[in-house]
Amino acid sequence: MRIAVLKERAPGETRVAATPETVKKFVALGAAVAVEEGAGEFASISDAAYREAGAELGSAADAVKGADIVLGIQAPDVALLQGAKAGAWVAALFEPFGNRERVGAYAAAGFEALAMEFMPRITRAQSMDVLSSQSNLAGYKAVIAAADTYGRAFPMMMTAAGTVQAAKVFVMGVGVAGLQAIATARRLGAQVSATDVRSATKEQIQSLGAKPVFVESVAGIEGEGSGGYATEMSEEYQKAQAELVSGHIAKQDIVITTALIPGRAAPRLISDAQIATMKPGSVIFDLAVAQGGNVEGSAADQVVEKHGVKIVGYSNTAAHLAADASALFARNHYNFLSAFWDKEQGRPVLDEEIGDAVRLTRGGEVVSERLKG
Ligand code: NAD
Repeated sequence: MRIAVLKERAPGETRVAATPETVKKFVALGAAVAVEEGAGEFASISDAAYREAGAELGSAADAVKGADIVLGIQAPDVALLQGAKAGAWVAALFEPFGNRERVGAYAAAGFEALAMEFMPRITRAQSMDVLSSQSNLAGYKAVIAAADTYGRAFPMMMTAAGTVQAAKVFVMGVGVAGLQAIATARRLGAQVSATDVRSATKEQIQSLGAKPVFVESVAGIEGEGSGGYATEMSEEYQKAQAELVSGHIAKQDIVITTALIPGRAAPRLISDAQIATMKPGSVIFDLAVAQGGNVEGSAADQVVEKHGVKIVGYSNTAAHLAADASALFARNHYNFLSAFWDKEQGRPVLDEEIGDAVRLTRGGEVVSERLKG
């Protein structure tokens, strides 16, 4: 049983899919692990550290040769997988809806593509869930980046030279990233408010010491919503939300937007006219910028200034915390494969619930129901 870990090749990708900690654990399970030289460079992991943990190091071709499983952050180009075993598994982010061509190429090459973003959100799979582990870090980083861009302090300070007012932070979208954004902004001493379309988040916002700001005139999504996810809201709701937001954001210093709808473009939450009502010097961090953006005019990896307001957003926020993001992603991979490890066969055997959810291709065909549907 041979596991290969390649250096990521996507522009701006700093993470790596295994760490010395997970290499050691895979070796303890009886697997051989091969890592491409330099794979951990941006996550501050040296080749020597991988070697000490029990990995073989070599070129991409050396690492992939004879591999049963290839681990990645973003799925590698199929061309890089030449030499892997027939039917080898590749576990990584596949962006299945946005990159069907790649899924087709994996099917044609006979590999089993396992899309980590399709991990079902069930209790037993929580420790395998890369969307959660990476969103959590992204929520933290969004606040840190906004604080860095903001020309004022976050906490209230009473000094001999006078008082510095606490920053007012508004978080829109309270999923995994939003909850961490609230917690981080509170730790920095800001006054925090937050909103979502799912009513279950109200209590979560309050439990973190922030103020919920909700549309009350039109019903939102009851409780958690289906599977904890939001859907597209009615026109009436969107209008009521726009009015609520207009009144509120004019008084805010920092706005963090995190709203996503699975399989769709991110909902537009802030218009240019609303940005114009904010105070000059305010900062908006658009965590959804790579999915089309919650904020009119936001652009990935650029600071856009409009009406004196700085709008920031990264195409890959977790990649700005390479070491921690890699450590958590690598553990998600390990938790996934080790949970299904069959000692007799010396390899993982997936069950139906999780296997069928994450598997995109097998035996030369696209087999994912979500992609076929
Ligand atoms: P997400 O990234 O899909 O969306 C972020 C947030 O934006 C969500 O809270 C969503 O309701 C909100 N949103 C969408 N449209 C909006 C709009 N128009 N205005 C305001 N807010 C809007 O969400 P996520 O972080 O992936 O979390 C989704 C849910 O899944 C949560 O309830 C979370 O607790 C749950 N979850 C469960 C597990 C598990 O059990 N394994 C793991 C992770 C997350």
